[in-house]
Amino acid sequence: MKTFAHDSQAGHSPGFFLQRGKVRRNFEIPARAAALEAALHRLGLAPEKAPPFAPRALESVHRADYLDYLASAATEWAKLPDPGPEAVANIHPVPEMVAQGGRTGANIIARTGWYTADTACPIGPGTWEAAKGAAACALAAAAEAAKGGTAYALCRPPGHHAYAGRAGGHCYINNAALAAQALRDAGAARVAVLDIDSHHGNGTQGIFWERGDVLTISIHGDPDNYYPWFVGRTAERGAGAGDGRNMNIPLPFGTPDEGWLDALRYALAPIRDFKADALVVALGFDASKDEPLGALAVTEEGFSRAGQMIGALKLPTAITQEGGYNVDLIGTLLERFLTGWSQA
Ligand SMILES: [Zn+2]
Repeated sequence: MKTFAHDSQAGHSPGFFLQRGKVRRNFEIPARAAALEAALHRLGLAPEKAPPFAPRALESVHRADYLDYLASAATEWAKLPDPGPEAVANIHPVPEMVAQGGRTGANIIARTGWYTADTACPIGPGTWEAAKGAAACALAAAAEAAKGGTAYALCRPPGHHAYAGRAGGHCYINNAALAAQALRDAGAARVAVLDIDSHHGNGTQGIFWERGDVLTISIHGDPDNYYPWFVGRTAERGAGAGDGRNMNIPLPFGTPDEGWLDALRYALAPIRDFKADALVVALGFDASKDEPLGALAVTEEGFSRAGQMIGALKLPTAITQEGGYNVDLIGTLLERFLTGWSQA
């Protein structure tokens, strides 16, 4: 198995995080990637540097105006009078505004509200380069999968909450969606995206909502009590050509290995029925029982069994790293997952 990482992640070190009305330390920190990279070395899977991608590659799943925003946000923000160190929205367009023709002007405060879903995706000077580095890893892993192999992309920042035109929840570029589209473009007729991060993969669902050629499945904590709050329920099944091509499996808080692995078993059947030519796994570790902001209660052994079960599909696969914020544990969980995979 090839693995890919990138140095530019270290330049993205978000500080701002708003939780229950308190500004707290952001936990999507560079040390996460360092812990995961150390695990890859322990496994003898030292990561390669992902090659640069074609200039317009990100437009395969993202809007050009949104990418322009991401590229310029930190610079434009710094020109504001007395700005904070990162671009963080203080207003978002509510549905009533959009329904009445609401739009964004050129002001960076308006654009930040328009192009971000929440306050959990601050944009600092190194964010855009890091997001592009993570995307490069996802594309490199997809290229390996397109050749029939399996590869792991150490994506930081993560991606599955990013929509075609909106950042959110620590995510800017949707790495899993990018990998899935790259596999389609490389000739796979049908691609499945399986998201086992403990949060609903709402951005990926949004990007492929009306697509019949990409099956999206997410197993996550119940959004009645958990981010992203407004979506992630079983009734969301896609629309148009994508009707029936989206599956959400929300789980009650505290679901242990047994329930989580049952959900995974339940998710693998439609991937087989879909006759996917390739798979993207959006791999988060925040379903861990030791996750600081966790919803589920999966053990190390649970992640090992998940790796084995998904690996047993024997599909060409690009694995993209998503969340998981227990820095002391996520390296071990990656080791267990990939070791389980190798035993499939
Ligand atoms: Zn997550």
